[in-house]
Amino acid sequence: MQDRTYTADAEPGDDATVAGWVHEIRDLGGIAFLILRDATGKIQIKFEKDEMDDDLVETGLGVSRESVVSVSGAVEEEPRAPTGVEVVPESVDVISAADPELPLDPSGKVDADLSTRLDNRTLDLRKDEVQAVFEIRAEILRAARERFREFHCTEINTPKIVATGTEGGTELFPITYFGEEAFMNQSPQLFKQLIAGSNVERVFEIGPIFRAEEHNTPRHLNEATSIDFEGAFCDQNDAMDVAEGVVKAAYEAVAENCGDELEALGLAEDFSVPEGDFPRLSYEEAIERINATGELDEQLVWGDDLPTEGEKALGDDVGGHYFITDWPSEIKPFYIMDHGDEELSTGFDLMHPRMELVSGGQREHRHEHLIEGFEQQGLDPDQFEYYTKMFKYGMPPHAGFGLGGERLIMTILGLDNIREAVLFPRDRQRLSP
Ligand code: ATP
Ligand code: MG
Repeated sequence: MQDRTYTADAEPGDDATVAGWVHEIRDLGGIAFLILRDATGKIQIKFEKDEMDDDLVETGLGVSRESVVSVSGAVEEEPRAPTGVEVVPESVDVISAADPELPLDPSGKVDADLSTRLDNRTLDLRKDEVQAVFEIRAEILRAARERFREFHCTEINTPKIVATGTEGGTELFPITYFGEEAFMNQSPQLFKQLIAGSNVERVFEIGPIFRAEEHNTPRHLNEATSIDFEGAFCDQNDAMDVAEGVVKAAYEAVAENCGDELEALGLAEDFSVPEGDFPRLSYEEAIERINATGELDEQLVWGDDLPTEGEKALGDDVGGHYFITDWPSEIKPFYIMDHGDEELSTGFDLMHPRMELVSGGQREHRHEHLIEGFEQQGLDPDQFEYYTKMFKYGMPPHAGFGLGGERLIMTILGLDNIREAVLFPRDRQRLSP
């Protein structure tokens, strides 16, 4: 495109062409302003009606809000302008005129509900505070990648179209693959284990997972982004260390690199990075603490899964991130290894006070135990032969986890709804856009 100056780079004394969206037109009579917005900010374009060419004034002030325009002129210092500079236009070119009937007000003066916003994401993203979420999302994923690389992990991409699900038929979206039934993968679990078992050893993947769960909650999506880790010669404690490191790296990156975005979200004052080690509670301690809060109608007993109200009560009690370890084997998946006493699994969850962020554990790497696990879970091991047979050719002990990307973003930013952390969410009601 033609030489274009970002609004943030326009300096007094320059002759510049700025291009972007018409944010607002302020007509004060003899003088009027067009506020032009681009990815870097806003700039004021000044029209002195009596001193300027009529056509220029008419074009500049007659254009509808959100139209795309290009303005060339002299950049001058103006202390009264919001950014301290303004452009005195010599030409205004309307590149793409916007329909004056906007489905959503990008200036945010008129509130819109989430559904209207999601239907019109392009307009919604023109708001600073919405754009800030996605800038921060990008920074969080970048920081996670960097931290994994520091842990000597190789980034991998595993297939999303699969013949069998990770844990059998539930929660899977079926598709037709050249006339045969296939599924959208619910987790890279089995594939990442297969690669950790090669001498690549440590891998991570940031990619979509598909879950056909029926419930419509503020923390579930039907297509989510999973941040996965798997490492050979790692146990559950190593995997917890990596999970804790990635979560903290995300907070640190936001604190260090996203000042403007936090400002736009009104979070700059209160934003803090979690301090100290995340406490590690056993499942047994967790249920005792939940019972002691008296928040549940019925006391939890060994073997119960933790209900959402229980997690909430414990989260309030602990007051920060924490792990729950040593789950009863019966409520963790078959590919998680037991330890010591057969009843205990190496599975762990990393919790934010508001919700679960991570599930992980050491994996069962012993072929015969794995086959037993499939059978106990009512799954046919033959269907998973592509996976199980690799455990016969030298499979090291290994451990890993899956961290919900949107849940991480949502908890870091205190978003009420997980849909705020995805550009185009997929949920029970939404398949388009
Ligand atoms: P939950 O019990 O909260 O539904 P889960 O235990 O079924 O989660 P896992 O299979 O353990 O989920 O997946 C690992 C992580 O992936 C979760 O801790 C969560 O952060 C994220 N995750 C799982 N399912 C979803 C979903 N439907 N939407 C968004 N994130 C999800
Ligand atoms: Mg889980």
